[in-house]
Amino acid sequence: MSAHEQYADDLALYALGVLEGAERASLAKHLDGCSGCRQELEALRGDSALLAMSSTGPKPPQRSRQRLLNAIAKEPRRSAAVAEPGWRFNLWALFGWAAAVGMLVVVIQLRRQNASLQQAMNSLGSVLGSQTIELENARRIVDTLTAPEAQTVTLVTAKTPPQPQGKAFYLRNRSGLVFVANNLAPLPPDKIYELWLIPPNGKPIAAGLFKPDAKGNASVINPPELPAGVEAKTFAVTLEPASGPHDAPRGTGVMQGGA
Ligand SMILES: [Zn+2]
Repeated sequence: MSAHEQYADDLALYALGVLEGAERASLAKHLDGCSGCRQELEALRGDSALLAMSSTGPKPPQRSRQRLLNAIAKEPRRSAAVAEPGWRFNLWALFGWAAAVGMLVVVIQLRRQNASLQQAMNSLGSVLGSQTIELENARRIVDTLTAPEAQTVTLVTAKTPPQPQGKAFYLRNRSGLVFVANNLAPLPPDKIYELWLIPPNGKPIAAGLFKPDAKGNASVINPPELPAGVEAKTFAVTLEPASGPHDAPRGTGVMQGGA
């Protein structure tokens, strides 16, 4: 796109006196050094050029356009701006021009908004695209760790019977915690497993209740009750009364491990 084409819409707005701010300044600077655009501006300041432009954009309703053209055709060009006999018709012509100019301004503004909307949509589209990929990756990781149909295999040295095992993945500065367990014994009636985060100092912090499935697998993902940024010294699992309270370990220890 040449500089002149780029200024085409601006010229029309400039001619109408509605171009503002940086665009006005930029065009004014260009006009200083470009006689072509200055001529174009002079032409645009004539009524006939405005009419020509208004008929190249999206078409106004045929009836109002025809009415406008009729009014202009009947009116001697010279008398348009001067109040003399026939002033009533002059006013009508001026009103018609106001409508045409208004429509032209709206058309140009709409075309611009369209272009910037399109740009915004495009960049939004690419952001969404990369976020969708990240989300999909995150979902696959969590699914693999925790989906009921996921195969969970515990590898142990030969001749050792599979023991209850838990693994905690903890991202302290984001309060991210994924805990997966397997080979858990089925729950006795009215009992539930509870995960604890034990800080170096202070009381154990409740990190979620869980029940194993029929194969003894269980998981806890990002327990909402976990406070932000807590340092973990140990994770532990206890067997607690299902009815609670669950704010402190009261039941029997099942497993634990240092972080
Ligand atoms: Zn130019």
